[in-house]
Amino acid sequence: MISFLTKSKLLSASQCQKRLWLETYQGEAREELSYSQQRRIEQGLEVGAYARQYFPQGTLIEGETIEDQIEQTQNAIEKGEKCLFEATFMFDNIVIRCDILLREESDKWQLIEVKSSTKVKDEHLQDLAIQKYVLAGNDLFLSNIQVMHINRDCVYPDFSNLLIREDVTQQIKGVFSNLPQLIRHSQNTLEREEIPDINIGKHCEKPYPCPFKSFCWEGIEEPTILSIPNLRGRRLDQINDLIAQGIYSLRDLPEDFPLTEKQAEAVREKLNPELMINEQGILEKFSQLEYPLYFFDFETLDPAIPRFEGLQPYQHFPFQYSCHILHQNGELEYHTYLHENETDPREKVIESLLETLGEKGSIIVYYQSFEAQRLGELAEQFPEYSTQLNQIKERLWDQWKIFKDDYQHPDFGGSTSLKKVLPVLVPEMSYDNLDIQGGDEAQALWDLVIQGKAGNQREKMLADLKAYSEQDTYAMVAIHQIFINQILPEMEGITNELLEKLKIVTEHSAGLETLKENLNSADQEIRLIALHQLHNYGEEGLKLLDLVSLEDREKLAQDKATSEEILSCLANDQSSWIREQVASNEKTPDYLLERLAEDEHYRVRAEVAINQKTPLTVLDWLIVDADYDVVEAVLDHPSYSVHRLQKIASDPNTPEEFFEKLANCGDPKICLQVANNTDISPKLRENLLENFLESDIEEEEEVATWLREIASDPKTPEELLEKLANSKNLTVCLEVAKNPNTSEESLEKLAKNEHWEVRLEVAKNPYISPELLEILEDDEDLDVREEVAFQKLDMQEIDSDLEKLIYHDYDEDLAERLDELSPRVLRSLAWSINPEIGESIAKYKNLPSQILEELAFESPVFVRAEIAGRSDLSNEIFNKLATDEDTEVRARVARNQKTPAPILEKLAEDEHHWVREEVAANPNTPNYVLEKLANDPN
Ligand code: SF4
Repeated sequence: MISFLTKSKLLSASQCQKRLWLETYQGEAREELSYSQQRRIEQGLEVGAYARQYFPQGTLIEGETIEDQIEQTQNAIEKGEKCLFEATFMFDNIVIRCDILLREESDKWQLIEVKSSTKVKDEHLQDLAIQKYVLAGNDLFLSNIQVMHINRDCVYPDFSNLLIREDVTQQIKGVFSNLPQLIRHSQNTLEREEIPDINIGKHCEKPYPCPFKSFCWEGIEEPTILSIPNLRGRRLDQINDLIAQGIYSLRDLPEDFPLTEKQAEAVREKLNPELMINEQGILEKFSQLEYPLYFFDFETLDPAIPRFEGLQPYQHFPFQYSCHILHQNGELEYHTYLHENETDPREKVIESLLETLGEKGSIIVYYQSFEAQRLGELAEQFPEYSTQLNQIKERLWDQWKIFKDDYQHPDFGGSTSLKKVLPVLVPEMSYDNLDIQGGDEAQALWDLVIQGKAGNQREKMLADLKAYSEQDTYAMVAIHQIFINQILPEMEGITNELLEKLKIVTEHSAGLETLKENLNSADQEIRLIALHQLHNYGEEGLKLLDLVSLEDREKLAQDKATSEEILSCLANDQSSWIREQVASNEKTPDYLLERLAEDEHYRVRAEVAINQKTPLTVLDWLIVDADYDVVEAVLDHPSYSVHRLQKIASDPNTPEEFFEKLANCGDPKICLQVANNTDISPKLRENLLENFLESDIEEEEEVATWLREIASDPKTPEELLEKLANSKNLTVCLEVAKNPNTSEESLEKLAKNEHWEVRLEVAKNPYISPELLEILEDDEDLDVREEVAFQKLDMQEIDSDLEKLIYHDYDEDLAERLDELSPRVLRSLAWSINPEIGESIAKYKNLPSQILEELAFESPVFVRAEIAGRSDLSNEIFNKLATDEDTEVRARVARNQKTPAPILEKLAEDEHHWVREEVAANPNTPNYVLEKLANDPN
């Protein structure tokens, strides 16, 4: 466990507590420092050491351990030392080292922080605020706080003003006011054994890019929802909430997420970037080009402490240049200069580049303002060359501007850097194989070499520098060729005149000789350029392909910049490997793909099927290929839609063996389409059904529907139903259980199904055997048992069996268990020939009104009679029962004390005296009715 914090750890903690934890316990997850980052650190140390020269009386605190350094510092203070370098203190578990501490008369101190920047930055103030806090805790009080930094106005060799001091005493007030809380929080973090659970967010970039990004962001799909522009306030909180829920990718942003119009537009562009071409701008720029074309690039160094005459801090000076010269006859030359010792390289660079760049022809650079500035500075620093250098400056042509203004490809990811643009336009070229990955690294490496710090790596580093620089300018050549050979000819506004002006024109015989030479060159890049020019020489040129090595033919066949004529020759290459490469090249024209789709070698056909640009008509051909690898490739092809396959699957003309291939494709929609095709054999249908039942796709709704249809079809043979009875899908099992064709064995299997609904359907199945009914009679589910009872009713096993079943389930008193019975049972029991059961139902006080009404209209007489005695009857039921054909029923109505007066009045005229007597006996019969009855003949 760590015992103290340092300034840099606290600054990390102020950005993110997880960063602090990772730095302390999992440093290996940190991204490696690049050469340029290391160089910046070394530069800082160099400036720090230089600053001490301004204080000759200073004492440097040096000790092996922090405890030693703290003790030495205390001793020096007690001894009365006036100036300390690297004085070390601890307070509140924070250790600091002060660059320079100066004692003043008042016994207060002046604190000076040395920085290699050219101005005071916010992080310097935070750094000093931490030092001030710790010094106060050590009873050292500061009268003044300063930042000593580089002065841009200093000019070599006068270093008297190289460093200047800026008083920041007032600026520091209020900075890091939450420092004590931050310290507590950080200490708590460091006491944790587990990595803090902190999500990624805007803080991963602010205030500094976090060196643990590759660790925390691993597997996160770009662009993320954090890339939405102008996120702040509530909207940023909502984004953080989504991140907390595990939503990172912009693709997963909920549709209803509130965005401003501009944000919504930015999201649309990020998700669906489009190729943007400004033809006019491109044509205007290219029309300015003049052969020969010089593809040119400087490598420079910009040290904090200038090294040569007239240079200022951080001013660039070139130590290397690279130049490819493309002549209009196609010839490509390469020139470079790399200064290899510690002397001033500028004049040597100038002399060499003046010789290389000649007096005419466009000089193509990538980001003109950099090269122009360097040329302008060299012209000022070396006036004797100023005229030529300024003329060179006039000839600069900026390739970068094409990508800035006129050509944006979705795969550039919004970048215009050469490293992003190159692999998109020239996929076979990238910087990945180079040891040096950028200009910053080139600077750092050269600095190491000329300062004699490269050791035995010197020669390798020089070779790496040359390779990197050469790649930079060759990349520009390759991009230029793509524009000239592919992009410009496609433009509507291109004129023949411009094409003629830009195209490589060759004097035939002389050019052919050069071409042959170049094809044999040891330099692969020169060979490739020559290969790409073969078609310019017609058949004669293309015949030379026979002399080209397999390796070079392979490169040519893969290259998206290869011309149609050359691809056409390679499509007939004797090597099937080369034909495969042509088949996989996205630039291979359709007619060649068609030809290759009939190639004798299945791998060539498979590559055609894989090629994303292969037209559907060719894929239609390949989908019925004799080789399954080819068919599989078509099935995986993103353009070969399910819809198209479905069409084929439902086509009665599709051969049976192809149906089998489709049936194995694993896509439920296609398999279904095959399954639904009435022309497939019963065997294939059965196989499909088995496949569905064995795979997870059985649960897919459309598959389940198909299985249900088969399961419910009374014509489905027993054997298929037997298979379907094994389905994991409830609804399929239900249909099998209902199907009259389902065998006894299958019903028996389903009678053990875990779902009661299935067992219920088994019980309902009209063909269920008495033996199976016996088994289900003891089912744990009430509904199932009831159903068994009704099946038995249907089987005429009415009396004893019903009673047995009912009393078996409900003990002996049915009336007390009526609440447990379903309406269907109640209704049916009313029809029991056992009058006691019917009467129980008729008397049941919670009998649903609908059943009551039904039974009043139609039921056995003893049930209707019982109903007629109920006190909860509606007028309608009273009316109906008062006209019942059965005297007993009418008499019970007449006796009912709830019978309304008008009905009693009607019953007082009933044909049967027994009914009229009941009316007379009813205490609720009104007087006027009784008066009538007083005259009754009976
Ligand atoms: S990447 Fe982000 S979350 Fe991870 S440690 Fe750095 S700042 Fe924290």
